[in-house]
Amino acid sequence: MPHAELWQRHRQVMPSWMQLYYDEPIELVRGSGRRVTDGEGREYLDFFGGLLATMVGHDIPEITEAIRAQAGRLLHSSTLYLIRSQVELAERIAKLSGLSDAKVFFVNSGTEAVETALLLATQRRRSHQVLALRGSYHGRSFGTVGATGIRGWSATALSPLAVTYVHSGYRYRSPFGHLDDAAFVAACADELRTMIETSTAGDVACLLAEPVQGAGGFATPPEGFFPAMKAVLDDYGILLISDEVQSGWGRTGRSFFAMPGFGVTPDAITFAKGLGNGVAIGGVVAPAGLMDCLGANSISTAGGNPLATAAGVATLDYLLSHDLQANADKVGEHLMTGLRAIAEGCPLVGEVRGMGLMIGVELVVPGTREPAVAATLRVLEAARQRGLLIGRGGLHGNVLRVTPPMTVTVAEADEALTVLREALTTVERTEENA
Ligand code: PMP
Repeated sequence: MPHAELWQRHRQVMPSWMQLYYDEPIELVRGSGRRVTDGEGREYLDFFGGLLATMVGHDIPEITEAIRAQAGRLLHSSTLYLIRSQVELAERIAKLSGLSDAKVFFVNSGTEAVETALLLATQRRRSHQVLALRGSYHGRSFGTVGATGIRGWSATALSPLAVTYVHSGYRYRSPFGHLDDAAFVAACADELRTMIETSTAGDVACLLAEPVQGAGGFATPPEGFFPAMKAVLDDYGILLISDEVQSGWGRTGRSFFAMPGFGVTPDAITFAKGLGNGVAIGGVVAPAGLMDCLGANSISTAGGNPLATAAGVATLDYLLSHDLQANADKVGEHLMTGLRAIAEGCPLVGEVRGMGLMIGVELVVPGTREPAVAATLRVLEAARQRGLLIGRGGLHGNVLRVTPPMTVTVAEADEALTVLREALTTVERTEENA
């Protein structure tokens, strides 16, 4: 079927609010390593897939084989029976989380992972009041969408939760003005305390927080941000849930889950996306005292099924045996340095930020901090035309997101940097002449 016909049929049968990238959306049909091929035979370097699904790259033989072997033995989606790979994966994640006496519950997606964490926190604290960070993204279900602080991702303004937003670690557009790190952190912690005191009924269940905000444009807090926030939460007995659907598994280069790398032990961690390397899986890890507080089974029939957990075990094995956290640190640093060098000669770039392989490039109207939204879309398209897939995000949709699989090499990073330099320069010139 020709590509144009597929796109036409998609529009006919899929909801209008399903967003696809690019004016002419592409169909990915094959992948190998860090490269994907579309239905028309064009090859791309995949610098966004790293957190969407392909945490360690496409078609990694060890992982593909583990999935194939499980599919050949048993496909079963009921979790009413013992599942060896589920128990094994849970034990390993519990240990890697660094949480004491940890237990793990598996689901099928990041949204379900956050829903489960919300069930735990609200049940434990007997309150439906929740704090969330501005610019957050936690999912698209009824509960999680209400705690998502980006209007573009909010399908409904109704919510089963009473949500109060506080400022995140996003410094580029701080409401507190231009402060140094310590003063910014103190202002955020002050705001948190004031909001708890004045805008809630006082018995808040939890703060939901992404250590590095993903859809929010890889907003990365300064050192000290989370310890200061946690100190305030502790004064009120409010739980901290670290949503690591994007930042987990060593992608930040610093620690296995990102929140402990910021010096804070959360009360629960949610994870998903990368763990199955393309197979749907998610979960929550939390100390037994919190995990066991529910009175009945949570989501869902297929959570932690044999296929998903077999993929998870194989992906985790691969990740750890190849020390991909160290690679994320090394190549991430290389990309960051390269992007900062590009930014120096490109006034379209307002800020380059991030950690490890989560790098955001915020585009602004040159000479101002005004979000350059249309230019961002043009850079995305210009990169695609040159064979590079990257992502987009930010409160205003003006941030390029660079997040390749954790196996990415320095040579591939250089290839991407060349394309990004060209794409940014071309768009900047067009904007100047517009
Ligand atoms: N939390 C975070 C931090 C996310 O980035 C996402 C997905 N972008 C989710 C939750 C929801 O995950 P999923 O799309 O797998 O439901």
